[in-house]
Amino acid sequence: MVTFYRCGHGDCAMIDDVFNINGHQEPVKLYIDLGRKSFAIPYNQNMSNADLLITHSDNDHCCGQASFLTPNRIFVPAFFVELEIILLKLHHHKNIGLLNHNNKGRFIPVEESRQLVYSPNLKWDVFNPVRNKWGKWVSSLSIPIDQLIDSINGYLSDVQVDLDVDGIIRSVRDARDYYIDRNSDVSDDEVWLFVIAVLYKVYCRSRKKKLTLTQAVNAFKCHDANEYSIVFKYIDSCGTSFLFTGDAPSEVYARSYTNKNVQARVLKVPHHGSATGIDIVNSVPPSSIALNNIDPDFMVVSNANQNKTPPNVGVLNFLRNQPGKTLLMTNDFTKLAGASFKGVSLPYSFPNGIQAKIV
Ligand SMILES: [Zn+2]
Repeated sequence: MVTFYRCGHGDCAMIDDVFNINGHQEPVKLYIDLGRKSFAIPYNQNMSNADLLITHSDNDHCCGQASFLTPNRIFVPAFFVELEIILLKLHHHKNIGLLNHNNKGRFIPVEESRQLVYSPNLKWDVFNPVRNKWGKWVSSLSIPIDQLIDSINGYLSDVQVDLDVDGIIRSVRDARDYYIDRNSDVSDDEVWLFVIAVLYKVYCRSRKKKLTLTQAVNAFKCHDANEYSIVFKYIDSCGTSFLFTGDAPSEVYARSYTNKNVQARVLKVPHHGSATGIDIVNSVPPSSIALNNIDPDFMVVSNANQNKTPPNVGVLNFLRNQPGKTLLMTNDFTKLAGASFKGVSLPYSFPNGIQAKIV
């Protein structure tokens, strides 16, 4: 059974399933995101040692309360900075029963280039994040790398540096201790490339906005989190496919993949129905490459009824008008002029034998 929670602006879902593989039973107990700070996951003794997957480090995905939960494993985007922020938020909010335990070796990095191995017999396709995105930032530069380092160094020595480069490297290296295999196959070269990319971004950003270096690093850490969202496809014991998407951008679903495809029967609509998650092409009628590729029967939008946050009215109208597809919203959305969308009545059970509900 897959359960989506009404948690306001944020995401929280639970998988509680049992697979029968070669005569033995293989359970899946997994929470996907925790929702926002004001949300508390309903107590569930049966799920107290479930695993946890945090799609990315934004507050509306990793600050919800679940004090009964002591996860054995925590799946996170394979991006050291994301691990660092997620760890910090889980500790800071004391939101899961982790504090009394040694967290080292508990985290599992997830990335597009390999499957998400839940157990030896259960492996799920992953579509995002892409490994070493920072490598692309550096390789797209028009100046040679040593010249770049010179200019960054020059800049760093010009300002009162209150954040040291060694600190960044240390935090990256420390992060590796938390991964389950203690090294997560991140090479020193990758770490170094990452540090250069971070410094470059920091350098550009602080020049443009006149930030201090610390502010720029913090802005950097928060800025790209959506892009690192874990996107994966879960196929339940009845064969129904679910695509979990966090807040990942629409390009993830428009890429061409080898040996896997994003098509899924139930879609957790990316980024709470924002326009960044579903691309809409202004054809007649309007179309979306992402939605064409996923081609879901059911589209679950996890939203709040607030006008400062997603969803996007254009996206909701587009989804609502898709023939043969059902739009399911966790809340009404009526706060923007001209917007009138009804959330589902809870509890909502999916039709056609699909083992899923919204509560
Ligand atoms: Zn979000």
